[in-house]
Amino acid sequence: MAVIDLHSHSQKSDGLLSPNELLQHAFEAGVEMLSITDHDTLLAYQEIERSGDSLPLLIPGVEFSTEWNRTGIHVLGLNIDLGCAAMEHAVSVQANARLARAEQIATGLERIGVPDALAGARAFAGQSAIGRPHFAHYLVQCGFVKDLGQAFRKYLGAGKIGDVKQHWSSMEQIISWIRDAGGTAVVAHPGKYGMTRTRRAALIEEFKQLGGGAIEVISGLQDPALTASLAACATAAGLLASCGSDFHRPGQPWARLDMPLQLPSECKPVWDAW
Ligand code: AMP
Ligand code: MN
Ligand code: MN
Ligand code: MN
Repeated sequence: MAVIDLHSHSQKSDGLLSPNELLQHAFEAGVEMLSITDHDTLLAYQEIERSGDSLPLLIPGVEFSTEWNRTGIHVLGLNIDLGCAAMEHAVSVQANARLARAEQIATGLERIGVPDALAGARAFAGQSAIGRPHFAHYLVQCGFVKDLGQAFRKYLGAGKIGDVKQHWSSMEQIISWIRDAGGTAVVAHPGKYGMTRTRRAALIEEFKQLGGGAIEVISGLQDPALTASLAACATAAGLLASCGSDFHRPGQPWARLDMPLQLPSECKPVWDAW
């Protein structure tokens, strides 16, 4: 049972549920501490209606897209001060980056024959932070692909025409903004960047040097060998450990709000310091 889940998405980025529905769903799943970590936006926190002492306890958070040595790395900012100048600035810079990137993705898709790609993706995003999943939905709607997975494999995933990453703020800059907001910077899902162990160790080492505080030792359903390896990395680097489902919508067995997310006993949990 995931009693503590520090990585989840609402409709304000690419999740399905509204922020209030997400909280209700987490409550029903038995989650006692939750962070809603939408991609590059804090909009969820403007919409939440509840008393401060209700469960789950809500930890203010965000998932930033960053660039490190030409690789896209996601960095969570957890336990941040939502209203501070640093976060306002960070989300505004990242929102502009998302828009510029969306235009570039659309141009690429139009070049290969997808009509009105920006308007099409925008229709799926609404007021939420626009991203590749919204283009994926549009590609399905237009009949270019049969599902979202195929949209990423053919058009949006690594090395494909919609894989545009040079707009993001540097990892260093993002860590600095998170610290200015009083939060802890956490490397999200370190096992999902297709890196060799050596390169991952270099990423974690530099992350620590730049002021990062923790790594996500458990991200959803993952191989226990990866969990053990990431726990050892965190311990060796003197970093705290976090865990989260990366929930986006009900019905995904690999990212459920009621899944077990038990950190190995050697880990120092990131929330101990809050
Ligand atoms: P973006 O933030 O715009 O780069 O979009 C990244 C998001 O796309 C991730 O957070 C996932 O939610 C989603 N995603 C990435 N790869 C896939 C995939 N193969 N199939 C479906 N969704 C994916
Ligand atoms: Mn996502
Ligand atoms: Mn991510
Ligand atoms: Mn995520």
